[in-house]
Amino acid sequence: MPTLREIVDRQVREGELYEKLDRNRVRCYACGHCCPIPEGQPGVCKVRYNKGGTLYVPWGYVGGVQCDPIEKKPFFHAYPGALAYSFGMLGCDLHCAYCQNWVTSQALRDPNAVSPPLSASPEALVKDAVRQGAKVLVSTYNEPLITSEWAVAVFKEARAAGLMTGFVSNGNGTPQVLEFLRPWIDLYKVDLKSFSDRRYHELGGRIAPILDTIRRLHQMGVWLEVVTLLIPGFNDSEEELRGLTDFLANISPQIPWHVTAFHQDYKMEDPNNTRPADLLRAAAIGKQAGLHHVYAGNLPGMVDDLENTRCHQCGEIVVRRHSYFVEEYRVTPEGRCPSCHSQIPGRWAKRFEGQIADRPFLPRRRASLVNILN
Ligand code: SF4
Repeated sequence: MPTLREIVDRQVREGELYEKLDRNRVRCYACGHCCPIPEGQPGVCKVRYNKGGTLYVPWGYVGGVQCDPIEKKPFFHAYPGALAYSFGMLGCDLHCAYCQNWVTSQALRDPNAVSPPLSASPEALVKDAVRQGAKVLVSTYNEPLITSEWAVAVFKEARAAGLMTGFVSNGNGTPQVLEFLRPWIDLYKVDLKSFSDRRYHELGGRIAPILDTIRRLHQMGVWLEVVTLLIPGFNDSEEELRGLTDFLANISPQIPWHVTAFHQDYKMEDPNNTRPADLLRAAAIGKQAGLHHVYAGNLPGMVDDLENTRCHQCGEIVVRRHSYFVEEYRVTPEGRCPSCHSQIPGRWAKRFEGQIADRPFLPRRRASLVNILN
């Protein structure tokens, strides 16, 4: 049986996000590391590599597929109730000790992370998504920026079938990769893990490319929501949260900010789990900064009103939720508050068609997604 490394090395094609340098070296622009890669070596992510002066990138497989409620991504201002057909590949450009997708993201670094890839084509994925009733195709689970060429191939097919597209990403982008994605992407979630460059160094990155990605996505008009996993003692100081939320509010107070609860995972087992009171404190800081839409996640029913969407002008509830479940939907077909008619920022369907599922499930039929370990 071939090793995971051998399979991943085989499932490639030439990348588009790179330039050739001297002495057969290449520079990759798929993520903020912008690795200069010598002949015969992979980049930091371990899935893009230089062979003979050509950059090879992941192609033709998925590390996992799942149907998620769009609220799980989380997107709260994009087609509430929609089913998000979610796919990922393998690998990541960061190495967060608390990663909750470590089986796919760290598959090539950590021998305990095993996730057999499935052979797939963009056509097969989109066909499967349509069959499940999905409205949105989302690249997630591993870091989608490092597999952007594959995501764009899938997104082109998705658009042709009338689906929306999205990334769930750490935001460690470059101007080049964002321009590459721009024509094909509708929704983008950035996981802003901290407001400290020192903390980002611990996770294997830098904060500057992530903040730049947030600014650029907003300028580009891609629908953006930002999430911060609140980890006690890691990123929850008052000063850090004020800096982070001021930064977002200065770009636009309309950017939804989700502050979510940490639970002990992977290699990070020291900090305490986040309590409801911690989320409420962080959310209050976000509101003081001027953010209009602040949500608290992962602790359903324990965070007061912070699962609901309210009109910023009049305070009316326009989407009532419990966890991922949409209990009530009152946004008008024009995306407005039914009471004061203010525009609610986001992407709204002409009419709410109910929710196919409020919890994740695996697609029933994956005949054309074949396990390639065999
Ligand atoms: S995706 Fe990022 S980590 Fe991977 S090779 Fe390119 S620049 Fe380096």
